[in-house]
Amino acid sequence: MAKSPNHGTVAKPAKPARAMSVADVRAFLTALATANPDPRSELSYTDPFTLLVAVVLSAQTTDAAVNKATPALFAVAPTPAKMAALGADGVARYIRGIGLWQAKARNVAELARLLVERHGGAVPNDRAALEALPGVGRKTASVVLNVAFGAATMAVDTHIFRLGNRTGIAPGKTPRAVEDKLVARIPPEMLRPAHHWLILHGRYCCKARAPECWRCVGAAWCRYPHKALAPPAARPPKRARETST
Ligand code: SF4
Repeated sequence: MAKSPNHGTVAKPAKPARAMSVADVRAFLTALATANPDPRSELSYTDPFTLLVAVVLSAQTTDAAVNKATPALFAVAPTPAKMAALGADGVARYIRGIGLWQAKARNVAELARLLVERHGGAVPNDRAALEALPGVGRKTASVVLNVAFGAATMAVDTHIFRLGNRTGIAPGKTPRAVEDKLVARIPPEMLRPAHHWLILHGRYCCKARAPECWRCVGAAWCRYPHKALAPPAARPPKRARETST
């Protein structure tokens, strides 16, 4: 582990670990599953449409920031027809606390209009149709197909990309390469919940800057060569630092 002048121990840069065996992939995921048997999205939504909008809004921002904005937005525009009628300027009024809010407001208003025009106001259970909507790429479509329609998809976000390479579960140079390896290596019956297990593990334990390996339930199978086996030592109180030489 490297030392940071301000934050103690930090993770070594992501150099792909050796790939885990398929048996170890199963064991690693079983450990995550045992710790979190019913994993769920942390975005607030009530149906496929509000899920789709929440996922579009969550690009490059936190779920918490999205969840702050969406209750008021969904109260006035809970359907594609009402969201389209609100228009980009109307949507923008509710999402100004979210990164990239101007582009996202335009995308949400337009995707709502297209859902009405092309799909009778329903969210399509179809990757190509989803990816044809503004603001919807492969990752967003995968989340909607997984969470709203129960498909065994793997949406590779920043956390899953990091875990794929750091742990050896699915090393790959691009998100698509990691996705393809995960789909090939994860037992089919584990694929759908694995999306959530991996995201939540990356968000709360296998963090980008400082993975908390000492409390990781998957450490026995993880191939990261620089595991932090104990928490960083507490910094001495300010007075002690000032008086020590
Ligand atoms: S042992 Fe450390 S690097 Fe490996 S998965 Fe757990 S937290 Fe991440």
